[in-house]
Amino acid sequence: MKKTLIVTLIVILLFNIGNISITAAANDTNKKENSNIYDVTMKQDILCLMIAYPEYIKNIEKNNGYVYLNMKSGRKICYDDKKVKSVQEKLVNPDLQDTLAQIYPLSPIRCVMRADFDPGRYRSYGLLSEVYGTSKQVIENNLTKVNIIYNNYQFNKCNNASNSLKSVMEELKPLLKMDQNLRNCLLPCSGTFNYRVISGTNRLSPHSFGIAIDLASDKRDYWKWSTKAAGEKRLSSYSTELVKIFEKNNFVWGGKWSHFDILHFEYRPEIILKARYFPSSNVLKKTWYEGAPIQEVSIKNAIYKIDSLIK
Ligand SMILES: [Zn+2]
Repeated sequence: MKKTLIVTLIVILLFNIGNISITAAANDTNKKENSNIYDVTMKQDILCLMIAYPEYIKNIEKNNGYVYLNMKSGRKICYDDKKVKSVQEKLVNPDLQDTLAQIYPLSPIRCVMRADFDPGRYRSYGLLSEVYGTSKQVIENNLTKVNIIYNNYQFNKCNNASNSLKSVMEELKPLLKMDQNLRNCLLPCSGTFNYRVISGTNRLSPHSFGIAIDLASDKRDYWKWSTKAAGEKRLSSYSTELVKIFEKNNFVWGGKWSHFDILHFEYRPEIILKARYFPSSNVLKKTWYEGAPIQEVSIKNAIYKIDSLIK
C-alpha cells in the first residue's frame, strides 16, 4: 500500500517537473519571439523614417539600450522611450515608435475605424519641428504657394511636402470634369496653413506646420461635430479615387481614424511607406526588410546602417 503511494507521488512529481520545464521552454520561445518582433518592427520603422526624411536623419545611434535618430540640427530623437503610456499620453507625447505603431490601411474603407484606431494622428513634435520649422516665423519662411483650382494655398516646401501636394493636384485636375463626386469632395478647399492648436487641446495642429489640407467641408466631417452614424454616411459616399491619389502621394486621410476628420489630409510619408512596405508584422519573412524596394542604392545603404547598429 505504502509502496504504491510512494510510486504515485514520484510519478506526479516527475510529471510536474516535466510540465514546469515545458512551460519554461515555451516562455523562452515567447520571449525570443517577442524580442524578434520588437527588433523587426524597430528596424522597419527606422527604415521608413530614413526613406521619408532623407535630408534630415543623418545617422542612428544606440546609447544605454535606447535607439536615437541623429538629426541634421544635432538634435537626437528617441525611437522608444520605454514608458508605458495611456492613449491620451501617447497623443500628447508620443515617441517615434508610438507614431508608427498602428498600420494605416491603404485599401478603401466604408465604416468608421474601430475605437482608438487612429494611424497618423500620433505625431512626434520633435520630428515635425526639425523638418518643417521650429517656430511660427521659421515655418512661415518655409511656405510656398500651391494652386488648388480657384486659389493658391500655402504649404511647406521642406521634405517635398508642397511638391507632393502639387502632384496630387496634377493627378486630380483631369478627373474633375468627369467625376462630380470627386469635385464636390475637393472644392471649395477649406484651408491649409494655420498656426493654431487643435481645438480643446494645447497641442499644435499639423496645419501649423503647413503639411495639412482641409478640403470641402461637410457638417458630418469631424468626430466632435458629428455622430458616428452621420460620419459613416459621409464616409460611404466619399470619393475613393480622391483618397487613393492623396495616399499615392504620401498623404494620410483623417477619414481612416476612429476620431474621424474626413475633410483632412496630412503629408506623412513615413506612415504611408510603412503601410506600403510592411503592412503586416510578419516575422516569418526571410529578411526584416522584405517588401521595401531594396534595388535603390540609398535604401540598401540605410538597411546596411540599421543592420550594423541593431544586431
Ligand atoms: Zn485639418
